Amino acid sequence: MLHTTCPRCSSNQTQSVPTAVAQGTSSFSGAAMGFEFGSGDVGVAGFGGTSQTAFAAAVSHRHRPTLPLAGGAAMIIVATIATAWAGSTLPDLAAWPVALAAWALVPVTVVWLKARRKKWDADMAVWARSWVCRACGSVWDASAEKAA
Ligand SMILES: [Zn+2]
Repeated sequence: MLHTTCPRCSSNQTQSVPTAVAQGTSSFSGAAMGFEFGSGDVGVAGFGGTSQTAFAAAVSHRHRPTLPLAGGAAMIIVATIATAWAGSTLPDLAAWPVALAAWALVPVTVVWLKARRKKWDADMAVWARSWVCRACGSVWDASAEKAA
């Protein structure tokens, strides 16, 4: 079941966060609101309660992390150049670790990006089921067994 009554002040002046954002809800009075999703990727902010702009800004960073195509291309180019350079220094093996390291950056970046996306998906799931209290600014997971 949904816990739509504020767990802190028992107010019924509550809204789901996505709804509040969609409506551009203008006045959240009371204490500073803190969205604590942990990662900093999704709507993390502590801000004064009355600013629509701050509220919108805090929850609008919802772009899934991506590696820019240019960034990926640059990594491949650098690694290719490093390999060519290492090849030109044969049989001096000292250059090869550099080339290998350049290539190793590619899978490392992919793994890192996947981890970031996984975290982002989890954060977004929490965000989507969060409710906010317009009276005191509390934010909680309305689908949790126990309201936080
Ligand atoms: Zn409240």
